[in-house]
Amino acid sequence: MVFVDDISNLPETKLKDLLTKNGIITVISIPMKIRLKNRPAGILTLLFKENHTFDKEELDLWQNIANTVAFGIESIKAKIERDELIKRLDMMAHTDKLTGTVNRHRGIELLEHEIKRAERYGHPFSIIYFDIDHFKKINDTYGHSTGDTVLVKATETIRRNLRATDSLIRWGGEEFMILLPETALPDAVHLAQKLREHMEKRSADIPVPITASFGVAAWEAGQSMDTLVHRADTKMYEAKKLGRNRIAY
Ligand code: GH3
Ligand code: MG
Ligand code: MG
Repeated sequence: MVFVDDISNLPETKLKDLLTKNGIITVISIPMKIRLKNRPAGILTLLFKENHTFDKEELDLWQNIANTVAFGIESIKAKIERDELIKRLDMMAHTDKLTGTVNRHRGIELLEHEIKRAERYGHPFSIIYFDIDHFKKINDTYGHSTGDTVLVKATETIRRNLRATDSLIRWGGEEFMILLPETALPDAVHLAQKLREHMEKRSADIPVPITASFGVAAWEAGQSMDTLVHRADTKMYEAKKLGRNRIAY
């Protein structure tokens, strides 16, 4: 606690000038104490325009007020920290560790949500299902950790070419699903073509060439999630059978 009964006794400083200009005579600064912590949450400073003297009762009163404010500040800080932690945990629960894409569990929720939305508002939406070509060979030739890097780079390439409202979901191993809200089949096909080309071009930066095969399907009224996914998956296999590094719809 700092108590200055008459600031005219202070050495010349900018602060003294400022206080004097505003007619302040007495200043008291009280640390706002937090129980269980040995640093104060801040300092409560009272400025008086008269030469104010304090008795013990008044000092205790101000100290109590300072401590109550400290408690308020700490409670708000704790709430902010807790909210951030919850957000982080929630994010982690929905994210694939390796690629940072949406995990399958969350992906299913997103798809179900999109089907409900599409049913209700009659809006179109599509999915693109893709699988990296000959990925086993990449692992076998260059090792599992290069395989992991390829997955990371491939998903980065894809993500850069999606809209903020699209979701890239790791459906399993080296198979991914892209959920495209508000997108009818022609636009989804066009995007899949673009993604295939980007993936092929991007290969130059990675030690191994990577390509993928893409299946595209647009949701049709009344269709279940399983049926929609199955359609896209079937198309993806068609693309594989036709020679890989291509799209089918
Ligand atoms: P295709 O062109 O027919 O898709 O051939 P493929 O070799 O890609 O298909 P296959 O399903 O035979 O192999 C997939 C491989 O992906 C096998 C599995 O070990 C590997 N894989 C799955 N998840 C991961 C991962 O997280 N990291 C790495 N490095 N490999 C993975
Ligand atoms: Mg596969
Ligand atoms: Mg594959």
